[in-house]
Amino acid sequence: MKAVLIGVGQAGGKLTQRMAEFDAKMGFNAIQGALAVNSARADLQSLTLDTILIGQERVKGHGVGGDNEMGAKIMDEDAPEVMDALDGRITSEAEALFIVAGLGGGTGSGGAPVLARHLKRIYDIPVYVLGVLPGRSEGSLYQANAGRSLKTVAREADAVLLIDNDAWHATGESVEEGFSKINENIAQRVGLLLAAGEATEGVGESVVDSSEVINTLRGGGIAALGYASAEASPDASENLTVITSVARNALLTGSSLPNAVEAEAALLVIAGKPDRLSRKGVEKARRWLEDETGSMQVRGGDFPLESDRIAALVLVSGVERSPRLAEFMERAKTAHESRPQKRADPAAAFKNDELDDLF
Ligand code: GDP
Repeated sequence: MKAVLIGVGQAGGKLTQRMAEFDAKMGFNAIQGALAVNSARADLQSLTLDTILIGQERVKGHGVGGDNEMGAKIMDEDAPEVMDALDGRITSEAEALFIVAGLGGGTGSGGAPVLARHLKRIYDIPVYVLGVLPGRSEGSLYQANAGRSLKTVAREADAVLLIDNDAWHATGESVEEGFSKINENIAQRVGLLLAAGEATEGVGESVVDSSEVINTLRGGGIAALGYASAEASPDASENLTVITSVARNALLTGSSLPNAVEAEAALLVIAGKPDRLSRKGVEKARRWLEDETGSMQVRGGDFPLESDRIAALVLVSGVERSPRLAEFMERAKTAHESRPQKRADPAAAFKNDELDDLF
């Protein structure tokens, strides 16, 4: 799937850069263009991507801190400049736009939903958000911001592919230490999904194409991506169980959103050398996925890849009922309700009637 990426905020910029690097290293060419947008000049300087600084009048290049309302406001005000910077990058080849952002911060959290709205007004191709959910150990401001942002992007974008910062880091490792590992994992998995839909030339009809990714996400709402791989045997018939077990692991232990199993639609992509793929294994894995997700809409396809391993990518969409999400929304709500109130003007206490005058 030919895609253009727009990273918003610090996490969005770093992730966009990783994804563009992975696509170039693998020679996939699925990523047609990339741009990083931020209100913090310093965060843009560390990137080699093309960048655009927004909100200069209001925050002078210093960022919005954790104020996602300010993030939304400056994205709205500077939308014409961002649209201009994107013009020409979004060619007729592009099949989807991905806004990439950490949902717990300020610029990305507030900016992503606003940008999705502006892009959808102008472009006919789907606008997806690749959003990063803060891990459980991250502070309450992150949780509250992410809750409001997630609710809004789910409404504004065509679909939200959600990555839980708790999903892919080792135990004992802090979220920050784990960032580069998580970013690498995201770049690889999303990179493979985008590339999977590209490998259509001169191959059989079992090969997955971009329209299957788009159709899987068509119902909108929240999606997750799972991945697992294992050593393959040169003999395809011996790979029946390899295929069923990588599909299983991709959904149950390798998902970007742990425990997101019940789904409205799903796509199973099996990657590997075509002559090593057991057709029976692929069919069996697909039936298993239907049972497990409870979805009647499970698509499937191969991704021919020069590798001695076999990998499964499982894209599930319509996973709003996942326990992790329910727990997250609850935590976000509590964090939002208990946020520090803006301090009242002390002078007002002399004028209001909260305390009666003595006489
Ligand atoms: P912004 O620049 O104001 O949009 O804020 P950030 O992008 O720093 O957003 C903060 C959220 O993103 C927090 O939940 C962080 O844990 C997360 N985050 C920041 N940097 C990274 C990163 O490199 N990778 C990942 N996966 N998450 C990040």
